[in-house]
Amino acid sequence: MTPVTTFAGRRVALFGLGGSGLATALALQAGGAEVLAWDDSEASREKARGQGIAIADLREEDWSRLAALVLAPGVPLTHPEPHWTVGLAQEAGVEIIGDIELFCRERVDIAPLAPFVAITGTNGKSTTTALVAHMLRQARLDVQMGGNIGTAILSLAPPAPERVHVIEMSSFQIDLTPSLAPSIGVLMNISPDHLDRHGTIEAYAQIKARLVAAADVAIIGIDDPLSRAIYDALVDTGAHVYAVTGDMLPGDGYHYEGSEIFATRGGSTRRIANLSGTGSLRGAHNAQNAAVALAVGAALGLDEEVTAPALASFPGLHHRMEEVGRRGETIFVNDSKATNADSAEKALTSFERIYWILGGKPKEGGIASLRAHFPRVAKAYLIGEASADFARTLGEVPHVACGTLDRAVAAAAADAQEDEEEGERVVLLSPACASYDQYRNFEIRGDHFRALVQALPGIATPPSHG
Ligand code: ADP
Repeated sequence: MTPVTTFAGRRVALFGLGGSGLATALALQAGGAEVLAWDDSEASREKARGQGIAIADLREEDWSRLAALVLAPGVPLTHPEPHWTVGLAQEAGVEIIGDIELFCRERVDIAPLAPFVAITGTNGKSTTTALVAHMLRQARLDVQMGGNIGTAILSLAPPAPERVHVIEMSSFQIDLTPSLAPSIGVLMNISPDHLDRHGTIEAYAQIKARLVAAADVAIIGIDDPLSRAIYDALVDTGAHVYAVTGDMLPGDGYHYEGSEIFATRGGSTRRIANLSGTGSLRGAHNAQNAAVALAVGAALGLDEEVTAPALASFPGLHHRMEEVGRRGETIFVNDSKATNADSAEKALTSFERIYWILGGKPKEGGIASLRAHFPRVAKAYLIGEASADFARTLGEVPHVACGTLDRAVAAAAADAQEDEEEGERVVLLSPACASYDQYRNFEIRGDHFRALVQALPGIATPPSHG
């Protein structure tokens, strides 16, 4: 745990007692603050009470006596409308912050030079954060990974000069971290997402831009116009910034072509890694993730001879193009995290001969945007609510309505096995849909797929993931 000492002796209101809220309350209390916590759910309040956290109905508190309001990142600060605690805090002139802000202030106080890598972007945050952490652990560094992935930041060990914090940050978290100034700031990409929470795409981009603008070293994926504009503006200020691209590199930085990654410094370019054969990093999007990870390693002073080989041993994350089994020339891939067409496209472009399981609760636009990739689909297996609609879009592509995942897996596995063409083929769960019509969340859907695959006769399973 990182005790938060910067509010010692003061009263702090905290709203939202999920995992990170509980950790924050405990860290504040451990550092000597008086915490008044609240959550709309009685069950969450009960759980917090059980851990010795003081519960108080914040509607009835005297806000003039509070030093800060700490909000859980899921609680709306501005859009669609400010949460009632935000209104009360603003009326009383009480600052509103999040747990990562508390970490940043603690870092400034106890270890201002402690390496702190903050990673954001619309897509690829978790994969890149996990990959960076893996790579640094392979280099035998003391690594603490968390934030928006896995462990709440204040549950991690405190910042220290020889310890690297690798922290995934959503825009909600950046919004609640006014003094964010990481030693290395990473922006992967920006595309419309969560606009319900940020109003406009410009507002969303501005929030993401803050993470790299305040970093000692910035690493920016420049392949979308908004990220490119942020990069150009930072370069103009003379900041220490590296670009990462699948296209033309405008200055110092990293680019990738197919599975190869190149580094450029002062006009000279070297090939530093090759991802072919690394099953956990298939596809152009993962080449970006790997290039970013290598850039972070270099910014921390690590040699590519150490960082590049670590890519090959990255186990990958569950539910993101996760290989869950193999039988003969068929691989079985769980991409349950692909809850929209854009994400499913990443998987479709990463394989050649695809037995594609898709469907669920459809999103606006369906799968029409994926038509260009239909020639890679040997056959599609439809599940859930989207079946009829997707069947129409698939048109000439062979497809069958299976209803449920168990029937889809059985049918796809049988067809892939009977496929007489030579070479690798994939049974791919990449649903392009939310899971809520049949599962509580995408993780449970992916776990079900993995279990069904691993119960098939003759399946070889890969070593388990980290
Ligand atoms: P996040 O944490 O930002 O949601 P993940 O690493 O969990 O990102 O990946 C989620 C999905 O986003 C993946 O399944 C893949 O479809 C897509 N993705 C991953 N990396 C990238 C990237 N660099 N650029 C674009 N899309 C990506």
